[in-house]
Amino acid sequence: MIRVRGLRKEYPGGTLALERVDLDIAAGEFVALIGPSGAGKSSLLRCVNGLVEPTAGGVEVDGQPVTGATGETLRRIRARIGFVFQQFHLLKRLSVLENALIGRLTHVPHARSLVGWFPAADIAKARATLARVGLGGLGDRRADTLSGGQQQRVAIARALLQEPRVLLADEPMASLDPALASTVMELLESINREDGITVVTSLHVLELARAYGRRVIGLRDGRVVYDGPPEQLSAAAAARIFSGVGQ
Ligand code: ADP
Repeated sequence: MIRVRGLRKEYPGGTLALERVDLDIAAGEFVALIGPSGAGKSSLLRCVNGLVEPTAGGVEVDGQPVTGATGETLRRIRARIGFVFQQFHLLKRLSVLENALIGRLTHVPHARSLVGWFPAADIAKARATLARVGLGGLGDRRADTLSGGQQQRVAIARALLQEPRVLLADEPMASLDPALASTVMELLESINREDGITVVTSLHVLELARAYGRRVIGLRDGRVVYDGPPEQLSAAAAARIFSGVGQ
């Protein structure tokens, strides 16, 4: 499903974010990508959906090259990759339902209310998805009146409404109260289990990766330093990922 080969990302100014990353992630996997801040997790996820262009190497998703893709081709590939951001990226003044419906769109029309633009079937699907993520009944509220945890659920609903084959989440719980972190992981896990969507979520908390990941990929200084099941993530392996950094 996701094929990464010889990936290298050097940002202008010379920061090396990823180096020689090779990965294969199969359809239906649930992967926890862990590493300290600055390890390259976000850069890797953004190379996978084409938000960041690698310096060398490349990524394929579902047999389609993302790297180098442009215009309509990139748009079509991205339509099948849901992305959940740490800061939610909701349109604050729109309703919860409207934010969710954006998952059905490729271009956002400049209308005060978007709801009237959508087929009834999409609206019904959006309401059902909001209910599924625990936001039933909140569709007509303004997005910025919700708590952080609820806003992240709107973002997850929006991504689900894309009907993605892959869901990428970039530290989706980092802006939330620690008590909410496991509820976000549980939601991602149920999406993976029930819909068969491949999920890759980055994390900087080892315990969450141990508790929820079925495959853990550890990044340190832009390189993969662990790739295996959480049970085999020994103290020595954890130290390779996190040594010298306060968690
Ligand atoms: P993580 O998600 O693990 O915190 P990132 O991929 O965000 O890691 O960052 C990896 C490295 O790349 C860091 O040193 C970071 O400062 C740098 N970096 C990330 N994005 C940019 C950018 N847009 N411009 C320059 N450097 C960047």
